[in-house]
Amino acid sequence: MQSPDTALYDVIIAGAGPVGLFLACELRLAGSSVLVLEKAPEPHSPLKGLPFGLRGLSVPTIESLDRRDLLNELTRRAVGRDTPAAAHWMQQQRRPGGHFAGIQFFHDQIDSTRWPYRLPGPIGSIAADMASIEAVLAIRAETLGVEIRRGCGVQSLPQSDDSVTVETADGMARGRWLVGCDGGRSTVRKAAGIGFVGTDPEFTGYSVQAELADPAALEPGRHYTASGMYTYAAPGTIAMVDFDGGMAHRTEPKRDQIEVVLRKVSGLDVTLTSLLLATTWTDRACQATGYRKGRVLLAGDAAHIHSPLGGQGLNLGLGDAMNLGWKLAATIRGDAPADLLDTFSAERHPVGAQILDWSRAQVALMRPSRSSRALEAIIRDLIDTRDGATYFAERVWGISLRYDLGDTHPLVGRSVPEFTFADGTRPAELLRTGQGLLLDFDVRPSLKALARRWTGRINYVAGDAGNRFGVTALLVRPDGIVAWVSEQAPHLDDAARAAMRWFGAPEASDCR
Ligand SMILES: Cc1cc2nc3c(=O)[nH]c(=O)nc-3n(C[C@H](O)[C@H](O)[C@H](O)COP(=O)(O)OP(=O)(O)OC[C@H]3O[C@@H](n4cnc5c(N)ncnc54)[C@H](O)[C@@H]3O)c2cc1C
Repeated sequence: MQSPDTALYDVIIAGAGPVGLFLACELRLAGSSVLVLEKAPEPHSPLKGLPFGLRGLSVPTIESLDRRDLLNELTRRAVGRDTPAAAHWMQQQRRPGGHFAGIQFFHDQIDSTRWPYRLPGPIGSIAADMASIEAVLAIRAETLGVEIRRGCGVQSLPQSDDSVTVETADGMARGRWLVGCDGGRSTVRKAAGIGFVGTDPEFTGYSVQAELADPAALEPGRHYTASGMYTYAAPGTIAMVDFDGGMAHRTEPKRDQIEVVLRKVSGLDVTLTSLLLATTWTDRACQATGYRKGRVLLAGDAAHIHSPLGGQGLNLGLGDAMNLGWKLAATIRGDAPADLLDTFSAERHPVGAQILDWSRAQVALMRPSRSSRALEAIIRDLIDTRDGATYFAERVWGISLRYDLGDTHPLVGRSVPEFTFADGTRPAELLRTGQGLLLDFDVRPSLKALARRWTGRINYVAGDAGNRFGVTALLVRPDGIVAWVSEQAPHLDDAARAAMRWFGAPEASDCR
């Protein structure tokens, strides 16, 4: 490892998980030098492959990957459809759209006309394995020039006013900023003294691959029982939760113990002849009290943990990275508005809190109690209605995501719709440089002249688009979030104010 005075990186990222790698790509795309320090000596783990590594990706994640031209590569590589669990879902007559505490909602009941500010584009969810997600992101990061050092866990981080020195087992590195993307047990979060508050676990969850003496003894599918819940995909993939207060998570799962828990949860006399792979998790739900302290920031599981039920953690973390990358890079370049970096925590902390509550609500429904079974019956009825399925899809798919940017226009704070220009170009393609966009549907020279003052930060694109929701012009942030819209001939002062709000002062002071 280099001595601290030989290299000063703009950003050091602790953790080469999906969030650390995606953030590294974002920062490098926007011109920052980035060093990623990863504790594990090599990226491979059986838990990142199938079946346990399977992750559902939400609409904001799919859109983000599309906006950075990573989606095609990921869907080409990902192997999410071939698992026994996926096969079970695919064989159902109605197409499932997702679930809440295991209770499915179906595509045939989702009313997408309730989302008037969305145009056809990536929707619903796709699944991909963690190994593929990390591989695609690591390749992109290295192609962009990110340095990744594996087997280099961050141990401590003395901060000064203008930099952070990171100490690892075999040396030091220095960065202007440090971002902890080092998972739920984050060393960075603890060393920075950032609080982590929330609720204690009620259960231990198990993901198990085993050989069963009689694979037909368990019925495939998800089952609520008097003492927990289990899901079985033949011949030996099992997920189960045992309401033990999270006790078993503290020890490595063994065959005998798993057999005991499976018998308890299923109420059946099941025998495991061998244990192939097992991991445990809990429903502990905690969130960092703040996402920034001095020159240290947090993203992903380092900032928030909750039960994996409903598959939201990765999506939440990738959303953090997409929100943080361009803001931190602009701060480092020196062209960001003074409070831009503060908007990271202001926008993402409430989103995290909402997801934590979503996971807590699912736990409440799964408790092996009579009141939870009664609640489950009500949710089953509601989810099987048009209103219900649409509501759950909106929440699970991430369609309801909207930041409060202080403007009541329904497009502001939301993901830019998939407007299609006459030549077929979409905003997702235009965002691939990592710059913001000024979309001018009425092709006005004055707007073009204004955008020129932010050359390199805002890409001006003019032309008519099919459905434009009555809008004449929009300013879109590099993360694809609409920052400003005009419904009439745009007022240039308003447009300039909006550009300054998100992209800082222009090159020349006169922006008319
Ligand atoms: C069974 C299960 C199923 C799940 N299913 C879904 C799903 O369907 N959808 C979804 O969105 N989410 C899901 N999740 C959650 C998702 O996997 C996590 O939220 C996601 O992996 C978080 O990414 P991350 O990069 O923040 O952290 P991690 O993936 O934990 O990566 C952190 C990295 O930091 C490294 N590290 C740790 N300490 C240090 C250190 N001191 N210095 C340097 N490096 C360090 C680690 O080795 C690791 O590589 C699931 C989780 C589980 C357990």
